[in-house]
Amino acid sequence: MAAPKVAVVGAGVIGLSTALCIAETCPSCSVTVLSDQFSPNTTSDVAAGMLIPHIYPGTPIHVQKQWFKETFTYLFAISNSAEASEAGIHLVSGWQVFKNSPKEELPFWSDIVLGFRVMSKAELQKFPQHQFGHAFTTLKCNCPSYLLWLAKRLKATGVQIYTRKVTDLWELHSEYNVVVNCTGIGACQLVGDEKIFPVRGQVLKVHAPWVTNFIRDGDGLTYIYPGMHNVTLGGTREKGNWSLAPDPGTTEDIFDRCCSLEPSLRGAQDIKVKVGLRPSRQHVRLQKEVLSRGGIKLPVVHNYGHGAGGFSVHRGTAKEAARLVGECIAALQGSSSRAKL
Ligand code: FAD
Repeated sequence: MAAPKVAVVGAGVIGLSTALCIAETCPSCSVTVLSDQFSPNTTSDVAAGMLIPHIYPGTPIHVQKQWFKETFTYLFAISNSAEASEAGIHLVSGWQVFKNSPKEELPFWSDIVLGFRVMSKAELQKFPQHQFGHAFTTLKCNCPSYLLWLAKRLKATGVQIYTRKVTDLWELHSEYNVVVNCTGIGACQLVGDEKIFPVRGQVLKVHAPWVTNFIRDGDGLTYIYPGMHNVTLGGTREKGNWSLAPDPGTTEDIFDRCCSLEPSLRGAQDIKVKVGLRPSRQHVRLQKEVLSRGGIKLPVVHNYGHGAGGFSVHRGTAKEAARLVGECIAALQGSSSRAKL
């Protein structure tokens, strides 16, 4: 069999990182990324890019932990390299605070982030409305920089990148041996997945360089995430809402909530509003499927539905998707050598 041709559909953090993992694990493959939108026009560009896992109720915790660990280890190495500023990856320390003590004192990821500990009474004085908290150091991506960095790495490894809207995965069967579906919320239309739904998120990006620690309310709704170029203030979680239009009332509400956690934000300037649709599902769809028409088969690997936590687990799920692509190629090579006998 000639060099296997793999098409990855989607150019958010999941598509680009999956294409990179495939190119790294299968150097003989010819990998192409096809997408109708690229940075800065993807959901991935809107994300705050904090490595704090979101829980997927339909996925075993040990699997989620593995995905997070692989992602953290990968980005930690980048943060510690000369690439850190171009890739937009840095460490950030801060607090997750709770109005009522959470049921479980230790989240599953507490031994992966750095220096995780329960906050002292003295630290909690900063948050008079909260009675319990965790302090830790994690990683943050400046998402547009990271997407550009991934695209640059892809081009350097010979991956082709084209603008193309795919209306049916089957349309790729005559050009590619394996197709990888990383279309995020686009999978709703592309493969008619009724289990995926949007969870609208509105955030503000503000200039407030004096805010250097992250602060996250334990309910996950209100957060302040300082980054390389701005501070992300969030947020909202609106299930089933497809609107990408910023809502001025929500902007005011987010700003007030964040100011009640960090009053100095009243002096923030240059407020920009962003909206994204989290591609949410009970569990990430990370599996093989073989499409078949008229006796012709097309192996597909799905990797979408990362909801509120795509950045936190992207490298782990990309590695697993690349492993599944390897299985598809091995099966194709097995059947082509059997056909020659
Ligand atoms: P996308 O970025 O949407 O990429 C999908 C790609 O597929 C796009 O390029 C699109 O053009 C392409 N596509 C779709 N359909 C087709 C088609 N038919 N043909 C061709 N191309 C197609 N996660 C974290 O881990 N940490 C955070 O701090 C965080 N904060 C967030 C804050 C907000 C406000 C939001 C909205 C999300 C946040 N997330 C966060 C979640 C994260 O953004 C997502 O999980 C992640 O971006 C999903 O990536 P994706 O590549 O699957 O989707």
